[in-house]
Amino acid sequence: MSVPVPRRAVLRGAVLLGATALTPFGGGRAAWAAATRVDQPVIANCATWAARPPSSDVSVVQSRPNKIIVHHTAFPNATDYSLAHAYQNSRDIQNLHMDTNGWLDSGQHFTNSRGGHLTEGRHGSLHALLHGQTMVQGAHCVGQNSQAIGIENDGTYLDGQPPQALWDSLVWFCAFTCQQYGIPPNEIYGHKDFNNTQCPGLLHDRLPELRSAVATRLGG
Ligand SMILES: [Zn+2]
Repeated sequence: MSVPVPRRAVLRGAVLLGATALTPFGGGRAAWAAATRVDQPVIANCATWAARPPSSDVSVVQSRPNKIIVHHTAFPNATDYSLAHAYQNSRDIQNLHMDTNGWLDSGQHFTNSRGGHLTEGRHGSLHALLHGQTMVQGAHCVGQNSQAIGIENDGTYLDGQPPQALWDSLVWFCAFTCQQYGIPPNEIYGHKDFNNTQCPGLLHDRLPELRSAVATRLGG
């Protein structure tokens, strides 16, 4: 039951309403809530998981991203699904990206754990997402870092599927991000669509399912 044109029109209308309503605080809040179809998932910000400060200023891109790119971390598949583990995983990724890769901060904008816990990656990503007008420049996919939101899904999915909790939070995150930025659900990709990599493994095979689930979430 795909009716792409009306659905997109409805989505765009909702986003515009939201952006207008958000500018003046106060009375605008109610209008924003009424226009919002997808509730905000819990996303722990950098301070919550005790991120290190960036080694230099994060760049803010003064435009909206036009797509989402899905990754897997290629870390071992943890069996600890706790929030504490999600925070530790966020610190591990940041340490790897800053100390080994020499980047100024985490490369990805957001991280999703095997327990389904979402965290902010690069500083400023969550603030930008909630306002829906800008993005911070990432370091997750060569050629796409100023136009694509990158989400790292913890684990390696070359041979096995991710836990259901990870999948469910990925769907929710993508739907909310599409809503906030006015990104069409069919603009969700995998890392291997742009760079020579196996990332995100079997999650790439499930992109049609992901796009469909996100579209349903947005338009249902
Ligand atoms: Zn990747």
